[in-house]
Amino acid sequence: MTQEAIKTSIFDLFKIGPGPSSSHTIGPMKAAYDFLQRAKASAQSTTLHQPKIMIHLYGSLSATGKGHGTDRAVIAGLLGWLPDTCEPTAFTALLKNPDDLYITQVGNYEVSLTARNIVFERKRYESPHPNTLVFKLIENEQIVLGEEYYSVGGGFIQRKGEDAQAQNDKEPVFGFTTMKELKEHLAKQKITLTELMIANEMALTGLSKKEIFQKIDDILEAMHKAVKRGLRQKGLLPGTIKLRRKAPVLYAQAKNTASTTDSFMVFLNAYCMAASEENAAGNIVVTAPTSGASGVIPGVFFLLRNHYHYDKQRLREGMLAAAAVGYLIKHNASISGAEMGCMGEIGSASAMAAAMLAYCAGKSIEIVEAAAEIAIEHHLGMTCDPIGGYVQIPCIERNAMGAIKAYNAYLLAASGNASAQKISLDSVIKVMRATGRDMSKKYKETSQAGLALSATEC
Ligand code: SF4
Repeated sequence: MTQEAIKTSIFDLFKIGPGPSSSHTIGPMKAAYDFLQRAKASAQSTTLHQPKIMIHLYGSLSATGKGHGTDRAVIAGLLGWLPDTCEPTAFTALLKNPDDLYITQVGNYEVSLTARNIVFERKRYESPHPNTLVFKLIENEQIVLGEEYYSVGGGFIQRKGEDAQAQNDKEPVFGFTTMKELKEHLAKQKITLTELMIANEMALTGLSKKEIFQKIDDILEAMHKAVKRGLRQKGLLPGTIKLRRKAPVLYAQAKNTASTTDSFMVFLNAYCMAASEENAAGNIVVTAPTSGASGVIPGVFFLLRNHYHYDKQRLREGMLAAAAVGYLIKHNASISGAEMGCMGEIGSASAMAAAMLAYCAGKSIEIVEAAAEIAIEHHLGMTCDPIGGYVQIPCIERNAMGAIKAYNAYLLAASGNASAQKISLDSVIKVMRATGRDMSKKYKETSQAGLALSATEC
């Protein structure tokens, strides 16, 4: 292993929080919260009179931040709210009116916040990531504290000058950076993928095995709730597109045609779109691995739980298999739509779901790998061009399509000899990274091309 081992935790990948976008909502909220803590620390040693805070959003955050609720997210973070504990209705009510005023406490000082403190910068800004936020604490036109953050996808953030991996000084028991290394551990130690993932998670988080399974159950419960809520909700989604929710219609249709050959796919479509529509509405979902793709794995999981009647332990283990694939993509390519286009979001989710399906079905690690590989292969180059910057079109249907592709990837991988698969998971992830780099930035979460330009024709 030449690179530093992957240190991501399953609970960094699967996070509960409000929609609609992990990189544009959850990440910015966490960055704003972090800045607030640093501003408070800085206020201890500085005399302030009338401090103010300015937030500058660049790149994709500027291009599609309005539709993705980035402005609400930074206000929420600066008010001391965090994604997993904030109240979704209070969150969606933020900045309903342009003049809404909020007060946050920085040390002994009250600082006013309005929409005018947030600047959607149109000018070019040199930074290592397209999702960049700059926060400034200003006193008397002088910057007292300035911090730059990158929202690198899936709700992960990085502060300028900090190595994301270095934030955890613990080491995994079975270090790996590629599928090849992961499989070598399994063969050499004669352990299962579940045992490897649990040993690493325990070493990285200090949690016991029981606590890890409990937390996975909590994540699965949140996914289950998102699907159930979405199946019941009717009406229009927020935003100017006036898109009507479709999941309840599909669900009714699936129940009415339960004995036909179509029903399996219609049920799966309904489950994926239910969670995805909840995300679009700004309600609580689970990043899997991102909010934009938060319908794929929950939809597949709902199917496995309610139609296949898989038990709790099998589903937990499926989540660990999905996480292993998510780690490899995040570490060696990216799960960010702003870096990879939609192959980074729905493509990653589909590969993770394919691995989950194969692992839950008791298939070998070669089949798990092949399933994930096939799923990525058929998402290569997929653009991210959400209409109006809302995570609705094409995002909601994409979740259903990602799940259907995951299911087919699993079926294709499970037939024939998976060891003879010509393309490895590691190879396709490399291709994914190269493709993402080659794609025009117009197709990477900027809403400047593709479907986004067809908005007027809708
Ligand atoms: S098109 Fe895909 S990557 Fe882009 S916002 Fe929608 S789900 Fe996310």
